[in-house]
Amino acid sequence: MHTQVLVVGAGNAGMSAAVAAKERGAQVVIIEKAPREHRGGNSALTGHMRLPYEGIEDLVPLVPNMSEQEIRHMAEHMARKRYLVADFYDDVMRVTDGRSDPDLLEIVVTQAYPTARWMRDMGHEWVPSYANPVSANVVSFNGGGYGLQERWFAVAERMGIPIHYGTAATELLEDDMGRVTGVRALTPQGYRIFRAKAVIMACGGFESNAEMRARYLGPGWDTVKMRGVPFNTGEGLRMALEIGALPAGSWSSCHASPQDLNRPPFGLPALAKLGDEWNRYSYPFGIMVNVHGRRFVDEGETWRGLTYAKTGRAVLAQPQGVAFQIFDAKCRRLDVIRDYERATGAKANSLEGLAEQLGVAPKGLVETVREFNAAVQPGEFNPFALDGKRAVGITPPKSNWALTVDTPPFEGFPVCCGITFTFGGLRINTKAQVVHVMDRPIPGLYAVGEMMGGLWHWNYPSGSGMAAGSVFGRIAGTTAAQEAVG
Ligand SMILES: Cc1cc2nc3c(=O)[nH]c(=O)nc-3n(C[C@H](O)[C@H](O)[C@H](O)COP(=O)(O)OP(=O)(O)OC[C@H]3O[C@@H](n4cnc5c(N)ncnc54)[C@H](O)[C@@H]3O)c2cc1C
Repeated sequence: MHTQVLVVGAGNAGMSAAVAAKERGAQVVIIEKAPREHRGGNSALTGHMRLPYEGIEDLVPLVPNMSEQEIRHMAEHMARKRYLVADFYDDVMRVTDGRSDPDLLEIVVTQAYPTARWMRDMGHEWVPSYANPVSANVVSFNGGGYGLQERWFAVAERMGIPIHYGTAATELLEDDMGRVTGVRALTPQGYRIFRAKAVIMACGGFESNAEMRARYLGPGWDTVKMRGVPFNTGEGLRMALEIGALPAGSWSSCHASPQDLNRPPFGLPALAKLGDEWNRYSYPFGIMVNVHGRRFVDEGETWRGLTYAKTGRAVLAQPQGVAFQIFDAKCRRLDVIRDYERATGAKANSLEGLAEQLGVAPKGLVETVREFNAAVQPGEFNPFALDGKRAVGITPPKSNWALTVDTPPFEGFPVCCGITFTFGGLRINTKAQVVHVMDRPIPGLYAVGEMMGGLWHWNYPSGSGMAAGSVFGRIAGTTAAQEAVG
């Protein structure tokens, strides 16, 4: 099989690349490891794509059929009236301790909005999601990531881009000049060679590979539950490293968030279209303790979207790798415990009773709550803003949304660490070309999406993965098409 541009992996990054390459006149083929019924990648499990906007007028073109009344309502209720390119840049730099690659990040933040408009032109749609407290993402994909991916597949079909499902790339092929000339792949009918003038690798990180998790992330990570699909087992990274690709970014860290203790071991797109019911993201409004009843993070450090990706790691570090989110009746009354309808949990009229049901040390919990309540400062609670209502003089402090825990019934929810995706990847240049350890691009090879390294270190702002995947997917597709056709 010969083509001009071969895309490996049909997630959002791969689909953006394939469609951009086809738009530029290239002949494009996609190979995808998952069977057709489980297609979509982690991208199909998402909700948001982080976008800068100068005001509601930038969001309206992304959301079809909004009435004047709906636009007015949204403008009044958005937690952030504007979110500038500089805010996006600063958020990433802040949560990564300034370690994000400035050149790649600059491209992501400046191109995220134009790329969303390009996606809109391709038929994608957004819906308002401003009603979610502590989220800076004020629009989300219509139909979630599942809807997004189904639209990408429809676009690909319309444009005549074939997708070979159940086909896993296993090896990159090179000529004597070190140019990548295609891949060897395992198909349902056995091994097959796919030749191409340009290969765009978009086949995810190594989050679904227990051996690689233990090797790179450290002890305990082999046993964590996965939020994502079981297909991203890191062979794309391995194949590229084998031909001299330069690793980049944080190979020892990942995105991991608090998840229901009883969540299944992995996610699948077919289940995601029903909504993700396992996230336990209301912790900024309560307190989070370990089995000894002790707090271990500032639950209200900042917007939830800037803390959740590092909170899974903090949970894993606790005894037995579990933690407990504790709320009192005020939180129910204020309606800030969202999407916990089917959560594993317990309810009791006393803290001792709750602790016993949860398996938390009762004395520890009671002491922690007493100390916490005494540290809560006066101030107005506002779940839609960084309200500065703090608990001070304790370790750790709580910087926002500090409500006393004193009104029964009390509720508690056990959580574990769920890995979302890994941060370690390949060094790419600003054209998405993979860089060789000899510090020059590997001819014919591109990497996008979770495979590109350098943007995220230890933490990550929600919605940024889809932004980076779309932006660099589009760049890779455009450049690869120029290379292959030109
Ligand atoms: C539950 C969940 C929720 C998330 N929510 C958000 C969100 O709201 N916003 C956000 O920005 N990010 C979110 N993320 C992160 C986001 O999913 C990723 O950043 C993004 O999907 C990366 O896109 P991708 O195309 O690189 O990877 P994927 O979408 O995972 O695509 C990779 C594809 O490659 C295929 N593949 C793997 N190995 C091979 C092989 N050897 N050969 C061929 N194909 C292969 C896989 O089957 C898969 O289809 C979430 C992740 C999860 C798991």
